[in-house]
Amino acid sequence: MKTITVHASQTYDIFIENGLLDACGTILKQTTKAQKAAIITDDTVEALYGARVRASLEKEGFEVIQFVFPHGELSKCSATLNQIYDFLCENSMTRTDCLVALGGGVVGDITGFAAATFLRGMDFVQIPTTLLAQVDSSVGGKTAIDLPGGKNLVGAFKQPVCVICDPRTLDTLPPEIFSDGMGEVIKYGMIRDAALFDLVAAHTQESISAVLEEVIAACIAIKRDVVEADEFDTGERMILNYGHTLGHAIESYYHYETYSHGSAVAAGMCMMAAKTCDPEVTERLKKCVKAYNLPTEVPADIRALVPLCGKDKKRAASQLRFIVCRVIGRAEIHTMPFDSFSLWMEA
Ligand code: NAD
Ligand code: MG
Repeated sequence: MKTITVHASQTYDIFIENGLLDACGTILKQTTKAQKAAIITDDTVEALYGARVRASLEKEGFEVIQFVFPHGELSKCSATLNQIYDFLCENSMTRTDCLVALGGGVVGDITGFAAATFLRGMDFVQIPTTLLAQVDSSVGGKTAIDLPGGKNLVGAFKQPVCVICDPRTLDTLPPEIFSDGMGEVIKYGMIRDAALFDLVAAHTQESISAVLEEVIAACIAIKRDVVEADEFDTGERMILNYGHTLGHAIESYYHYETYSHGSAVAAGMCMMAAKTCDPEVTERLKKCVKAYNLPTEVPADIRALVPLCGKDKKRAASQLRFIVCRVIGRAEIHTMPFDSFSLWMEA
């Protein structure tokens, strides 16, 4: 088993091993004093993994309750959150009990936010079951729900008591959701780890399964390092946004329907590389992106995308900060007045 320790405002371990799902009860027994564990999950994940997680928790003597909501981003909202609060009240959950987030980033984000706020804060554990959740959303303590006015607008920083990561759960992911997570994996290689990039580039979507434990651990270690240096996202954590300035613009231009987040980030990285890297670096990136069935560009005109860059409700900005990787494995934070960015991108 690989263990990665995160030293943030709360110190906790991330455990990574094929088949670890069946040991979640044992791990939780060692990490919390909870008597009761409330599994929060979506309908798809509950059907696939709910019984195994319940059995493992019950075997260790936990009283287990479960709240299931419909899968999908639309559930990451205040209505679902209120249902979770009501469920926790009805079942007399106390501050020493524990929430178990079993699922992808949607489950992790809303469960983490419930754990941050219910009774002014209680323990929660992350059991991520998508590639994106394993390498990204379950690590770092950002939790949130969406509002009609935008994504992730209400949230809190709340670290889990531990993360239990079982790469075998990814075997049941639809290929396009697996690819989506690969967008972020490739990003980690680009910003921090040329060896990780080489490993990922040496495989394809069909063959990567053999080295997935190693790949996931490398990504988590990078996110851990970045989060430890900047837990509350005031500086260096920004480098995780490589490909995201254009990526967010692409998602928004297509009304969040045509391109998944990872696809938009992949295209965003390739478009930024084309502006800033030697052709040889750009070609390596594009080849890798294609090997995971992700796009290297989008049909939309760059002049239509640029105005959407930096339209971030969470930051006021006349200056745009964005990430450039001129060589594989090293990220630089660049700042430009918005107007200069537009001219430069459109040139
Ligand atoms: P998701 O949770 O909606 O999962 C995608 C789909 O996969 C869902 O339909 C789900 O039911 C299904 N699924 C999950 N695990 C499965 C499995 N093992 N087998 C088969 N199907 C499975 O989405 P996601 O892509 O995991 O996460 C996206 C969310 O994460 C967004 O809301 C985003 O804002 C958030 N996010 C948060 C952070 C953070 O730091 N907190 C970082 C990145 C993204
Ligand atoms: Mg992202």
